[in-house]
Amino acid sequence: MTPGIRPLIAGNWKMNTLVREAVDLAKAVVAGAGSVKAELLVCPPFPYVAGLAGMLAGSTVAVGAQDCHAKEKGAHTGDVAAAMLKDCGASYVILGHSERRADHGETDAMVKAKAMAALAAGLTPIICVGETLAQREAGQALEVVHGQIAGSLPEGFVAAGGVVAYEPVWAIGTGKVPSEEDIAAVHAAMRAQVGGTTRLLYGGSMKPSNAEAILALPNVDGGLIGGAALVAADFLGVAKAAG
Ligand code: PEP
Repeated sequence: MTPGIRPLIAGNWKMNTLVREAVDLAKAVVAGAGSVKAELLVCPPFPYVAGLAGMLAGSTVAVGAQDCHAKEKGAHTGDVAAAMLKDCGASYVILGHSERRADHGETDAMVKAKAMAALAAGLTPIICVGETLAQREAGQALEVVHGQIAGSLPEGFVAAGGVVAYEPVWAIGTGKVPSEEDIAAVHAAMRAQVGGTTRLLYGGSMKPSNAEAILALPNVDGGLIGGAALVAADFLGVAKAAG
């Protein structure tokens, strides 16, 4: 954790839940949020953003989206603009998740353009970076993360309170987690690159049993949680580990 920075625990629901499940999950998170000191965020699939934002308005749990388009509006069938998400009640948007980089060929430049759109719409971007297993094994993790941050963060990102999530691709949904030394080394390098005030999250197979140790590391200011965010007790268990 970084002194003076309030931790953020963000749930990335990915392409999971039907309406009933999404509502029940969000309700269960809110019900357990009272004793949590960290800021809580849930990022459901697009169709549920408006409904859940309405439902959670006035609670301590914020709602975000998992992507947005780089353009303000126009002929982009199937895409969603940042201003629409803001209008629906979202306050954050996850950008450049490795699944989007892999499934949709998103480059750093595309992520940067989306982040600019998010900032212009008044959303806080959470930009994901992280190396593949091959890059880690080749000793390139720090270099890859440095390059992704340099290429993906637009001007004004830090001043606007943008968040960066270190998510090693090989740790996402695999149950594998880097050593505490490796997480700390990447976060120290990210801190040196982005400065003292930006929230730096770790993401990748976080769960209640490993959260306390990860969140205690220097420069780890919260978590981006995938699988464990689909079970309210697990998500809240991670959040409680943040203090
Ligand atoms: C993620 O996809 O952002 C993530 C961290 O997933 P998981 O927690 O399931 O590894």
